[in-house]
This record gives sequence, C-alpha cells and structure tokens, in this order.
Amino acid sequence: MQAETYDALIIGGGPGGSSAATYLARAGKKVLLLEKEHFPRFHIGESLLPYNQQLFREMGLMPALKAAGFTRKFGAQFHLGNASKGTKFVFSRGRFTREPEAMQVERSKFDHVLLKHAAGAGAEVREGWTVGKFTNTGDTVTINATSDTGQPASFTGSFLIDASGRGNLTGNQEGLRVIHPRLKKLAVFGHFEGVKLDDGDPGGDTVIVRLDNKWFWIIPLARDKVSIGCVMDKDEFTRLKMPPTEVFNKMWESSAYMRDRLQNAKLLNQIQTTGDFSYRNRRFVGPRLLRVGDAAGFMDPIFSAGVFLAMFSGKLAAQTVIESLNAGDDGARRLAAYEKRVQHGMKFYWEMVENYYTTPFMEIFLEPREKWNLASAVNAVLAGELEGGWSMRWRMRLFFWIIKLQARFPLVPRISFD
Ligand SMILES: Cc1cc2nc3c(=O)[nH]c(=O)nc-3n(C[C@H](O)[C@H](O)[C@H](O)COP(=O)(O)OP(=O)(O)OC[C@H]3O[C@@H](n4cnc5c(N)ncnc54)[C@H](O)[C@@H]3O)c2cc1C
Repeated sequence: MQAETYDALIIGGGPGGSSAATYLARAGKKVLLLEKEHFPRFHIGESLLPYNQQLFREMGLMPALKAAGFTRKFGAQFHLGNASKGTKFVFSRGRFTREPEAMQVERSKFDHVLLKHAAGAGAEVREGWTVGKFTNTGDTVTINATSDTGQPASFTGSFLIDASGRGNLTGNQEGLRVIHPRLKKLAVFGHFEGVKLDDGDPGGDTVIVRLDNKWFWIIPLARDKVSIGCVMDKDEFTRLKMPPTEVFNKMWESSAYMRDRLQNAKLLNQIQTTGDFSYRNRRFVGPRLLRVGDAAGFMDPIFSAGVFLAMFSGKLAAQTVIESLNAGDDGARRLAAYEKRVQHGMKFYWEMVENYYTTPFMEIFLEPREKWNLASAVNAVLAGELEGGWSMRWRMRLFFWIIKLQARFPLVPRISFD
C-alpha cells in the first residue's frame, strides 16, 4: 500500500493536537491530524488558565470562543474541607500576571471549536481514525491507522507530533512512561445544578477544597451547571468497595465546606470515574518525533494547568517542526531545545503539585503574604506564567524554601483537617 506523505502527522485532536495543527497549517505546511473519536465528545479538564487567552488571541480563536459563551473565570479559591480557612487569588491583582481572566469550558464544545479551527486553517482532520504503531524510517515517520469502519491505512510525514493525551501512544510504545509513586489517584466526578456559588465575578472562580488526603474541584460551567469532582487515592477507592456515586456522596458529606455548597445540589448526569495517575515520559522527543501535552506528561489537576500546557507545548512543537522543515534537516538540536523548554514549564507545576499534598504547603499557601511579592509570584504561576524569568524563579525558590522551614518551625499558624 502506498503511504500518503505529509510535512507533519499529528495523533489526537485535543487542545494539544489542534493547536499544533493550527500553527502548522497557518505556516503553509501540509499537516494531517488523526483523531479516534468523533467530536463533540466528552472530556474531563474544564477549568482554563488566564495565559490560555494569549494563545487564543494569537490563534484567532477569540470570536468563536466568545460566541460559545463560556463562563468567565477571574480567580481561584482554595479552602479547607472543614471550612476553617481559605484564600482567594484574583488574577488581575498579581504583580507579575499579564492576563486578568480565563474561561471555564465544557470540553466537548471547547475541543470541537479548536478542532474545527484547525481544519479551517487548512489542516486535514480525519475523525474516527485510531493510530496504532509508528515507525521511524530515518528521513520520515510512518504511522499505521484504522478507521472506525475498519479501513487500514498508513501515512508518512517528515515529523510526527504525538498529542494522544493520556493514551500516551508513542511513550507507551517506547516504554518511556514513569508513574509518580505517590500520586496514584482517581477522580470521581459529575455535573450538578443548584450548587451554591458566590455572587458576581467570584461566582466564576474555580474552588478547590482540600481534605486531609483528598480534594474537590468546583468548576462553574454555568450558574446552573457546575462540575464537581473528588481526587482521592486509588487504593482508598478500591478499599471502599462501593459504587462511585456512594463514594462521591460519602466524601462530600464528610466536609462542612462541601455540605454548604451542595446542600441544594442535584446531579445532572452520572457520577463517573477516571484514573488520575501523574506520570512523565523519560523523553519528550525522539528522532523526528515530538510529544505534547499529556502525551509528554500528566500531573494531578489541582492547578488546572493541563489544557494550557497542552496548547503551550503544541505551539512550541509546531514552531520547532516549521523551523526544521524550512531548514530542510531533522531538527535534532531544535527538538532537544523544545524538550528543555517544555520540561522547564512543567517543572513549576510538578513541584507545586508534589508540595500541595503536604500540610506545610497548605499552611503557607493559605496565608499569602506580599512580602517580597511572593504571593504575586504564586498568583502568576497559577495564571500560567511559565517563563517569567529570574524575578519569578527566585521568588518561587524562596516560596518552596519557606515551606521547608514551616515544616520545622511554625512561621504561620498550623492548620487542622479535622
Ligand atoms: C480528573 C481530571 C481533571 C482535570 N481537570 C483539568 C482542569 O480543570 N483544567 C485543565 O486545564 N486540565 C485538567 N485536566 C487535564 C486535561 O484534561 C489534560 O491535560 C488535557 O486535556 C490535555 O490535552 P491533550 O491535547 O494533551 O490531550 P487530550 O485532551 O486528552 O486529547 C487527546 C486526544 O487524542 C485522541 N487519541 C488518543 N489516542 C489516539 C489514537 N491512538 N489515535 C487517534 N487519536 C487518539 C483522544 O481521543 C483525544 O481526543 C484534568 C485531568 C483529569 C484526569
């Protein structure tokens, strides 16, 4: 069978894949994106970061996203499950933050807007095609795929971008996935109406509620449709031997803060579960291959950074491929630079997530102080500022150092989860 040839092949039409496709197509490159599902399709991951907006503007997506009428998000709130303490970050107040607001999105709608946009930019998008194996032949990369009508085909490209999300197609094929030993989590979630939301702008905030060894998200997709989920240890879920709905109810009923928010709530769909294991591939690139978004690494979603990181890396991957195609080489050095930049971006969140599960982190985090503009630096990271330079870097180092100190000497009051 004769393989069709492209400048770039992309596996997956989530935010990472469709962003990469848009940038490549806009640069006049011949790009094929294969997506196994038919859009619109459900996807978890509904709270975006302010720095997504920059990418939306650059990609020309704003009119379509505004027309979709997504909820505006101006901040993020963090509370203890026993309602004894909480804090609010307002993005416009961050000294280092350049974007004052974000969006809360139903991913079925949002991902569809992005995929259609990629097709409109000139990318060839085929839905209902599942990619199987990839082979690197030196000057090209070939993928085998099957349509959902059972038709097999192979496609050849100068470069391959793996945006297969947690399916982690090429990382799994090469045995590169390393699962975080302490972050083997599971999420139990559903959509609700009648959830108690704040009035005015804070009504669009993401609300994170931390219990001792688990946490909830409250994401207002609309005033009458709120996404609520609980992230807990997979082992605890297994030990409970209860249906997901019962587990979910047991968990929120154990929290005074959640009881207040959910007192009149009604489930709109079904309680679902999904694995939530944090992992990273040992390499983000291979010969003529770049991994973006969750296909590079996935981390516990406390800070809602997944979609932003997918789009950020999708854009960088596209730029790397465009420059390499223009230079007419395999781009090995550019791919190495891509990996370094994406690793650096992910590192910030990875460290935040690892710390989040410790009590000293929560103690410092729930008492934001503007001394040395530390709270502003944290605010900027929460907004998606990945490349703020030295002024951000030293503040975040100091922030993590203060947490270490707090573990030994109480700089701020201790908290209790009881
Ligand atoms: C419980 C939970 C809550 C989350 N909450 C948030 C949040 O609030 N905010 C946030 O930003 N992120 C959140 N995330 C993370 C977010 O969902 C992801 O980081 C984001 O979707 C990554 O985008 P992506 O494009 O890399 O992958 P995906 O969005 O997963 O897209 C990958 C696409 O590839 C397709 N695909 C897979 N395999 C193949 C194949 N073999 N052939 C063809 N197509 C294939 C899939 O069908 C899919 O459409 C959450 C994640 C979890 C698990």
